[in-house]
Amino acid sequence: MATLGNPQETIAVLQKYGFNFQKKYGQNFLIDPHVLDKIIDAARIGPDDFVLEIGPGIGTMTQYLAESAREVVAVEIDEKLIPILGDTLKEYNNVTILNEDILKVNIRKLAEEKNGGKPIKVVANLPYYITTPIIMGLFESEVPLDSVTVMVQKEVAQRMQVGPGTKEYGALSLAVQYYAQPYIVANVPPNCFIPRPAVGSAVIRLTRFQEKPVKVKNEAFLFKIIRASFNQRRKTLQNGLYNSPELKIPKEKTVKVLEQMGLPASIRGEKLDLVQFARLSDLLLEE
Ligand code: SAM
Repeated sequence: MATLGNPQETIAVLQKYGFNFQKKYGQNFLIDPHVLDKIIDAARIGPDDFVLEIGPGIGTMTQYLAESAREVVAVEIDEKLIPILGDTLKEYNNVTILNEDILKVNIRKLAEEKNGGKPIKVVANLPYYITTPIIMGLFESEVPLDSVTVMVQKEVAQRMQVGPGTKEYGALSLAVQYYAQPYIVANVPPNCFIPRPAVGSAVIRLTRFQEKPVKVKNEAFLFKIIRASFNQRRKTLQNGLYNSPELKIPKEKTVKVLEQMGLPASIRGEKLDLVQFARLSDLLLEE
């Protein structure tokens, strides 16, 4: 049975080892069993699953994962946590701890070795300072993925989920929604962690699409267009694409394509959805 995931046990473990939190690693440990249950439920982990956990901390969520999954690999950067994890996870023979930086781990190779190349599930209470590189790294490197169920900053979860017409909509929304279906599972207040983070948090499940929702001629070009469109939010799309040093698309070209798409020349990037960005990107490439 999982024993961590409450304030008393967490404090006892931290005191036993004289552990000092490292702010630079985004260490906020979960101490609420209801939130942990919600994450495990949302991740839909079964006895056949291989799970990758990013940043196990003292092993709180790892215990829950080990109870439900076939096998868990947890990647933790802070070497001071490794002996603690050895202690809190000693009952489980289906957990491996890697003392590495997740951004340097070859996850594809890991999925190959541990799951025969079949799609893996990623579950984490993420360190917030590298949320975007971790999530985009997982999607862009074409790791075989089933889903990513993660705790992130509340605003970031909202940005991932929204569509055009909201102020949170931006390049991250489109990048995530190109690869996955987002669903916010729960909002989590600061008092569910020790120490308390300065921001609100949310659990989001990203279910990877079997097939991408749009097909484009050049993926890299699509993302350049998207980035340039949101770089200068207050500017029109034609200005954004012209001002981008990596694109420098003449304004008349953008206006011509917008006209072909039945859109006004003065439109801003934040009004376009993924399907429209895909069409814009293909038409600009043809021009
Ligand atoms: N999973 C634990 C929990 O829920 O209580 C801890 C979550 S805490 C928000 C984030 C964890 O990620 C910390 O243990 C931190 O040391 C670890 N971490 C930070 N940067 C990392 C990196 N680049 N690679 C692997 N782990 C990292």
